[in-house]
Amino acid sequence: MSQSASLSQIYLDANATTPVLPQAAQAAMQAMEELFGNPSSSHITGIKAKNLMEQTRQRAKVLLGTGNGALIFTSGATEGIQTGILSGLIKARETIEADKQYSILYGATEHKAVPNSLEHWNKILGLNAEIKAIPVDSLGNLDLKFIENEVPNALMICTMAVNNETGVYQDIQRLDKTIRQNNPNVFWMVDCVQALGKRAMSLCETSIDYAPFSGHKLYAPKGIGFVYIRENAPFTPFIAGGGQESGLRSGTENLPGFAALNVIFEMLIDHENSCFSNAEILENYRQQLVSSLTAAFPEIVFNHSFENSVPTTLNFAVPGFSSKELMDLFDAASIRVSSGSACSSKVTRSFVLDAMGLPAWQSESAIRLSFGPAMTQDEVNAACDRIQLAASALTHSCLMLDATQLSDDKTPLDGLVQLRGGASCTWIYADQKSKQALIIDPLPELEKRIDTLLKCQQLTPVAIIDTHGHADHHSGRVPLANKHLRQQACDYLGWPKSSAKLHIDGTEVEEITIGDLSLLKLDSPGHTDDSITLLLTSDTNKLQSATRFAFCGDTVLMGSLGRTNFESSSASKMFHSLKQLDHLIGRNTLLCASHDYNNEFTTTLMAEIARNPLLNDVLSERITENQFIKQKALLDANLNDEVGTEIMCGAYTSDCHKLAIKEYDATTLQSQLGHSDNIKIVDIREPHEYVLQHSLGLNAIATDGINVPMTRLVQFIQQHQADKNSEWVLVCRSGSRSLVVAQAMQRLGFNNIAHLKGGYALSS
Ligand code: PLP
Repeated sequence: MSQSASLSQIYLDANATTPVLPQAAQAAMQAMEELFGNPSSSHITGIKAKNLMEQTRQRAKVLLGTGNGALIFTSGATEGIQTGILSGLIKARETIEADKQYSILYGATEHKAVPNSLEHWNKILGLNAEIKAIPVDSLGNLDLKFIENEVPNALMICTMAVNNETGVYQDIQRLDKTIRQNNPNVFWMVDCVQALGKRAMSLCETSIDYAPFSGHKLYAPKGIGFVYIRENAPFTPFIAGGGQESGLRSGTENLPGFAALNVIFEMLIDHENSCFSNAEILENYRQQLVSSLTAAFPEIVFNHSFENSVPTTLNFAVPGFSSKELMDLFDAASIRVSSGSACSSKVTRSFVLDAMGLPAWQSESAIRLSFGPAMTQDEVNAACDRIQLAASALTHSCLMLDATQLSDDKTPLDGLVQLRGGASCTWIYADQKSKQALIIDPLPELEKRIDTLLKCQQLTPVAIIDTHGHADHHSGRVPLANKHLRQQACDYLGWPKSSAKLHIDGTEVEEITIGDLSLLKLDSPGHTDDSITLLLTSDTNKLQSATRFAFCGDTVLMGSLGRTNFESSSASKMFHSLKQLDHLIGRNTLLCASHDYNNEFTTTLMAEIARNPLLNDVLSERITENQFIKQKALLDANLNDEVGTEIMCGAYTSDCHKLAIKEYDATTLQSQLGHSDNIKIVDIREPHEYVLQHSLGLNAIATDGINVPMTRLVQFIQQHQADKNSEWVLVCRSGSRSLVVAQAMQRLGFNNIAHLKGGYALSS
């Protein structure tokens, strides 16, 4: 059995779903072709179908030790969960005494299907019970004391056998004792989805009333599941109708699903003729994966103990890497893992790890790697090799140092890099020729990343500068400067004392150099009194045409102006700073702000004027200083203080809508490429993703394209100011980054921009 759906893919996301085992798929196919009868039909085709159904049920009952309990087939675990909860709560309703407050308990790390269903049925049935989460300790174990105290008053208690994010299992026997010693009658449901095939079970030896299972988590197709109901446990059909399943669950049965499950059950029962590995082998696999992850990411932290978790799940975080970055990396290496729970892949943190009290960064950057019992040694070996390959690829982006630290196996950095921490930006300008670097607004959380980048590219900083005293975050400047610029005397924003003074158009500016370029410091008070703008220019006499970037801090933000309602702010000074900036650098110089709330990367005064009426009024001399002060105060008053210093484009909502972008699908793009030489493909993934895809020889559309990672997009925009009419087609992993970049570029006047919808994910 192959874990992977294709030769190159390494699928390590079994807790989300599994591929269908070939033997199971074959059985399902045979059921569709030959055993397609309706089990309710009395002719021979129907009898055969019914026989398959009952054989499958019998095997499940043996496997799970259900004794005299019932086993009903469902569409999956979510239906089984409804069945259990509805049955328990409807019965519990009969015992409710007026004026008494009841609770319903569930484990804090439960799959969302459970608390959401509890809430739903509590409301629908009008129970008005208080739904309470049972806390877990740092190992993920349920708090038995809490249960002891709370369960006497509970209508129902829901726990899980094995957690889907961490693989942590509960001690069912101890739970059983705790529950029953304190409430012999409470209805108890145990979500057993992730336990099937991984933990031995004898359900009738427990007092569990309801236990839902799902086929697609163990190599059966989606759409088949089953639920155990203890003998004498109350039952209310969740689906009524034609009376199938003895009236317990109506609807014509899913014969192909039974056929597949039947094969799975057979393998779970008969170890001799099974492709499922035993616990010892699976534990070895886990150890190998752990060793290879640790070798690849020496600072890795595992988010759960291996003592109380099934060997098939590993949940980890790597300091300095977001889960999105690791997901992109693994996906580029064609290793499929998930961030936190696959069911909530849009959520950026894990409520399971939060409930365990893990540090925020671990929860925010968690990655889950999971496999099934059909994993083979060859697949483990391939996965370990691929993990190593993925980690080494990080050296291409200088996100990690390779063993020698100085190998040439990296993408050389020449120009501007934009690093982010949330919506804040750090800018690094690297000059390859002189091997010098300039660091602007370094965020403390990026310290290690900046350090690694400098080492990897063998760059020496000439200055590390803040554009103002940041009110919303600490600067990372001092620790970096202490490391790299010990000897340099500078002011408190990091501007070197050794700078030269110049007069440009009546304005005094200070100058330092980096390679052949000048960096000019221009006072631009307003947002704060100490705000400065840094101009990186190749000719101090032609600032309008020769300035490559203006690092303007929070003076001009994309879609808004920096707020001027701090104690050290002055709208009046901002009014003059804006005019001076316009006068010195003109409307087309790229502005690099210290925040990017809407993923717009960079801007120009021209682009801002088009959507920011207040800025437009100032620069076209339509309003006086006093009028500006008044209007600015109004805008600042509308800022949401809850987000504190975050100055979102909310002030100018009308122009924050996203632009429509021309989209290609893979087929049309391929055929366009065949007809036209003018389309230029730009792969905007990070260098490590790009290089991985190419080194793995994965079939991709853009083999001839160039690689412009998002972190270097602003440099690309600067270099292609004169090439705005070309057709650039942006490509990434899934089409979401390329859309964001296309919108940013289109806003800046690249008027023939397009992107590949669905990215590489849908193109091969
Ligand atoms: N419970 C757990 C622990 C799960 O992992 C899942 C699947 O994500 C479910 C319930 C829901 O299962 P199904 O997809 O079969 O409805």
